[in-house]
Amino acid sequence: MRKTPLAAPLGIGLIGTGFMGRAHALAFRNVSAAFELPVQLRLSALADADSTRAEQCAQAWGFDRSHGDWQQLIDDPHVQIVAITTPNHLHYPMAMAAIAAGKAVYCEKPLAVSLEQATEMYRSAKAAGVVTQVGYNYQHNPMIGLARDMIEAGELGEIISFQGEFSEDFMGDPASPWSWRCEAGHAGGALADLGSHLLAMARHLLGDVEAVCADSNTVHRQRPATSGSRELRPIAVDDQTHALLRFASGARGTFSSSWLKHGYKNHLSFEISGTKGTLAFDQERLNELRLYRPGATGRDGFQTLLAGPSLPGYAAFCPAPGHQLGYNELKALEVHALIQAVCGQGQRGPDFEEAWQIERLAAAIRLSAREQRWVGSGEI
Ligand code: NAD
Repeated sequence: MRKTPLAAPLGIGLIGTGFMGRAHALAFRNVSAAFELPVQLRLSALADADSTRAEQCAQAWGFDRSHGDWQQLIDDPHVQIVAITTPNHLHYPMAMAAIAAGKAVYCEKPLAVSLEQATEMYRSAKAAGVVTQVGYNYQHNPMIGLARDMIEAGELGEIISFQGEFSEDFMGDPASPWSWRCEAGHAGGALADLGSHLLAMARHLLGDVEAVCADSNTVHRQRPATSGSRELRPIAVDDQTHALLRFASGARGTFSSSWLKHGYKNHLSFEISGTKGTLAFDQERLNELRLYRPGATGRDGFQTLLAGPSLPGYAAFCPAPGHQLGYNELKALEVHALIQAVCGQGQRGPDFEEAWQIERLAAAIRLSAREQRWVGSGEI
């Protein structure tokens, strides 16, 4: 039987009703059904610049009230956790206002649109002592937890190589229109949009990267202003970025992020090799890990490990192996980590400090690509 949570309900305030707004709403609704939480959650307020949509979504998603002005949500005394799912350039003002109000902040990735902003956000949150978490949801996958455990336990031997890639193709058609993701000041291109997830994953699994050598380019330098429009807008952000990585551990790596790679829809993938084996993962098959360890001659090969209830994060949703988790379950696992952190049960998801480290690494990649040379992490 479930224990009754002791404390008063925690009020959730969600800003944004787009792709991530819905994902956060689903996660906040589902997490209490999957886990025995130390506190009840209350969907207190939903904000969007489009106040009609905010009101409609608040009703449909079960929020108590809606706001057209995000500052009103932050000022709302019913709200203790502010979830930010707006375009990247709005993370800074919204998070800084929430920190100033002493509220916990759950912000989508990447943390900010400049390293200066990210630094200020991390320092302000630390000084205010508020709990923070950033939406690097892929590392909450129980199979990634298993990969990390195997690496830490030395099952692959000494790690010597990381080959990481995050490719999608949603901008592959040159007729795909301009969006806020195409503005340097609003987002930052494929490196910020996709690459930041891969950098988070590389750090999560293998630790600090001490040097990078990168190359970025923009393939489609103009895009229609809106779908089907003949008006063209110039594009300055990267469509694809490639880099060599040198980890502090001594492991060597490769990195690539692209939103032009036809055929790939969510190809956040890596192969990690050690002196005793190789582990491979692809987010498009998120319930699987491929493991190779040398075996008997003529009988060796990769084996596929399939997610099941021996992994606690999986068991929370399903008692049967092979039935598979999906993207929205990863988001609920992320919210579970957030609620634990807010309730003083330890920080398991990446906080603003970790997200700032990811921004430092992205800044090193940008500098390296600009100056066409190796850049050490100490330069950033
Ligand atoms: P989106 O365009 O679908 O939604 C953005 C929302 O923000 C819209 O509802 C819009 O009306 C709202 N908005 C814009 N300006 C606002 C303002 N001033 N006040 C209040 N609301 C405002 O974008 P999205 O795809 O949901 O991306 C949002 C964020 O989530 C981005 O930072 C993006 O990088 C991140 N994201 C993360 C993942 C992930 O896997 N973690 C996936 C997609 C997007």
